[in-house]
Amino acid sequence: MKHNTFLAILLLLPLFLSAQVQELDCRYQGSAKALDGNIYVLTVFTGERPWPQKDVDAIITNVYEAQSWLEKQAQRYGKTVSFTNGSFGHPDPIRYYVATGTGSGNESADVVWEVMKKIGYQNPADFAQWAKDNADCDNALVLVLTKTPGTSYALAYRDDFEREKYYLEGAVIYTTYESGGETCSGSIAHEMCHLFGAEDLYETFSQTKENEAKARKLYPNDIMLRVSYDINELVIDEMTAWYIGLTNKEKSWYRDFLKQKQ
Ligand SMILES: [Zn+2]
Repeated sequence: MKHNTFLAILLLLPLFLSAQVQELDCRYQGSAKALDGNIYVLTVFTGERPWPQKDVDAIITNVYEAQSWLEKQAQRYGKTVSFTNGSFGHPDPIRYYVATGTGSGNESADVVWEVMKKIGYQNPADFAQWAKDNADCDNALVLVLTKTPGTSYALAYRDDFEREKYYLEGAVIYTTYESGGETCSGSIAHEMCHLFGAEDLYETFSQTKENEAKARKLYPNDIMLRVSYDINELVIDEMTAWYIGLTNKEKSWYRDFLKQKQ
């Protein structure tokens, strides 16, 4: 009899543990689960005609700057991160038109899926497995580069989304802002952080003004709050670090920053 109780406790314990893990897992969904380990970044050049080399160099320099900044920020939390890069669409761009992003929340959610289909992937979601098998990467993401002005945006996955279409996470990166200035490395790092699980800390269509005010006091230089042409002015502060899996130290208000307006 005693033996049976012992077994039941042993069986219940894993169930309890898996429930806990699942709750934490809200931070670890999609192909770019966390800022951790080796990460595959696929850059895809889109457009109607070849990009001038100077524009290619400018955006790639910014992608690399974002990546090395992310590596350094991860180190502050004792994590080793490295990136492996691949690319399509240079010199012959992928003929895909990306509409201008305006930060409205109504941008196309299908860009990564459609671009990967154009490249020739039958099942874009399988790309994450390819990156694992071929480049030893536990995380994979796509940066769809477009030589037009716009507000860059991220397509982060949640487990209740259609897996086939949205599991492979990516961001649309415009070469310039709507105002005309060159999109800086801080904005690219910001979008990548979304894919690893971070939330905006400034007021948006889905984030509240109250949360922005709180973030301004607590995390004034956080990458999810503001942007700067000098990326080294910015940091991944403790709350964003928790969201993207750099730390498990959680404070009571962290989950209040989950999107609230929807
Ligand atoms: Zn954002």
